[in-house]
Amino acid sequence: MSEAGTVKIISGVGAKGPACFLLQAQGKRLMLDLGYGPQPELWPNVDDVGRVDALVLSHSHKDHIGGLSLLPKIGNPPIFATEITAKKLPAGTTVHPLPLKGRGDVLGIPVDTGRNGHAPGGIWMRFHGGTGFLYTGDYSTESALYAFDPLPKSRTILFDCSYGEDETPLAERLKILAPHLAGDVLLPAPADGRGPDIALHLYRAGKTIRLDDATRAAMRDLTGSARESLRDGIASDLAALAEKALLPGELSGATFATPATCSDGSAAKLVKQWENASEPAIVFTGYIPPGTPADRLVKSGRAKFLRWSVHPRLSDHITMVGTTGAATVIPAFCDSKFLPALQVALKPANVTMDQVITLV
Ligand SMILES: [Zn+2]
Repeated sequence: MSEAGTVKIISGVGAKGPACFLLQAQGKRLMLDLGYGPQPELWPNVDDVGRVDALVLSHSHKDHIGGLSLLPKIGNPPIFATEITAKKLPAGTTVHPLPLKGRGDVLGIPVDTGRNGHAPGGIWMRFHGGTGFLYTGDYSTESALYAFDPLPKSRTILFDCSYGEDETPLAERLKILAPHLAGDVLLPAPADGRGPDIALHLYRAGKTIRLDDATRAAMRDLTGSARESLRDGIASDLAALAEKALLPGELSGATFATPATCSDGSAAKLVKQWENASEPAIVFTGYIPPGTPADRLVKSGRAKFLRWSVHPRLSDHITMVGTTGAATVIPAFCDSKFLPALQVALKPANVTMDQVITLV
């Protein structure tokens, strides 16, 4: 960036909350993500943001795109996203395409992108022009399903720190999960995230799989129009699973249903059917927003929460600092209580949760 740019945190640093950041560089004001939640009624406050030149979206999860109804407040800017992400936006949304992996352009600012290993169509993005600023969005290096492209050299990084300083590898989590997935089990999980990942894992282990319509459709997309988001060698197994999996509703095998909150859809229907029975087991594997049916089921003891990782570990943060050469890193999507430990672990990078960061 020819003159010093800035990154302003609107929401998403210091606490778990919707992603919304403002990058000001080369005379342009670019909003990075415009999320909602994940807790109910949690919106970013864009009242004082003013007119924005473009909105750039990292991936299609609600906490990154759920705030699109706020667009009139920031001047209805053009939206930039990958074509796979664009398909998941509300019907009629016009999107300027960014590559899944390669060089794109946002209003004259070159941007490099790569696959984020986290969601169909999901990308990290590195803005050019002298000073390299990288926004990772959500990412994971551990998915067996979604491809992850290594993060590029960058001076300043706003990075996914959803798990704070946690270092448990996915392989360890699988060992913890295994006994809970051995019998008949209901797994409410996002169709555009870990749902297909977990289903493929269990399918390869020989388990009977049942899929709701949304999860099956997401898998078919992944073997078709969203295929570029997959790791190599995955598509044929996933296609077989999408065709062979049974319908939900009967007590056998592992049933995948959406949404993960169980607030509506097939997950709500199946919870109603099974909540007062002792079987199947109900296992939640991701963040549970307070006040949702999922939260109620875990608190009552009917369901268990056992995490399946979809975000980076501490060792990924350390690798990130080493390979990118970043001087300043901003942890996003975690509580500020992790800041002191991250400052020690990520030396020599300067770790900050300041609300405005100058790109030098
Ligand atoms: Zn996400």
